[in-house]
Amino acid sequence: MSFSIKENLNKIRSSIPKHVSLVAVSKTKPIEDIQKAFDAGQRIFGENKVQELREKQPNLPNDIEWHMIGHMQSNKVKYIAPFISLIHGVESFKLIKEINKQGLKNNRVIRILLQFHIADESTKFGFKIEEVLEILNSNEFKTLKNIEVQGVMGMASFVSDHEKIRKEFSNLQAIYEQLKNSFFANQETFNILSMGMSGDYKIAINEGSTMIRLGSSIFGARY
Ligand SMILES: *Cc1c(COP(=O)(O)O)cnc(C)c1O
Repeated sequence: MSFSIKENLNKIRSSIPKHVSLVAVSKTKPIEDIQKAFDAGQRIFGENKVQELREKQPNLPNDIEWHMIGHMQSNKVKYIAPFISLIHGVESFKLIKEINKQGLKNNRVIRILLQFHIADESTKFGFKIEEVLEILNSNEFKTLKNIEVQGVMGMASFVSDHEKIRKEFSNLQAIYEQLKNSFFANQETFNILSMGMSGDYKIAINEGSTMIRLGSSIFGARY
């Protein structure tokens, strides 16, 4: 087997536009594999479980930007609040408020993305646009100074129908533009459209993605 993390990374990097950031999704993969990707120049890594992230983070270089990409329970925010660089999967007001509270405790502003439900599979989490508009319009939201919403995130249906996937990404792109041109019109840092995984990132980039999250195409299959 000629599989090499470095080769995979180089191939992907050379095929994606410069304005698209790459999150290397290292869930279930050992520290050694993450270190190999780091040595090949990768700095942004994504994990989907708080416990796994807590175990890996102290054993790897300090200048890694850790992204939390999975479904999160509010009571676990405290464990990653001191170091997390971006939380992608934010999908309730309760979670937004808890992240703000932990940001305050740690004397920092925590960057978040709002996760939208774009697939029709019931297993995928996320907001509907009406819910987000209600939150953003609330007085309580305006008092939260220790979070910053920097964009949106979503996952397409896990199907082989490219046209279906393309439509779902296109829907998310429209939501992103709507928010960017209204609530966040004066916030330059609202510039992240996180969509696209190993199987569908090319479609996502065509639909306007600015951040892709790739696991298996970098590190190999997960078992
Ligand atoms: C696992 C995961 C990925 C990466 O999946 P691959 O198909 O291995 O690229 C991306 N985003 C989220 C939210 C994930 O949980």
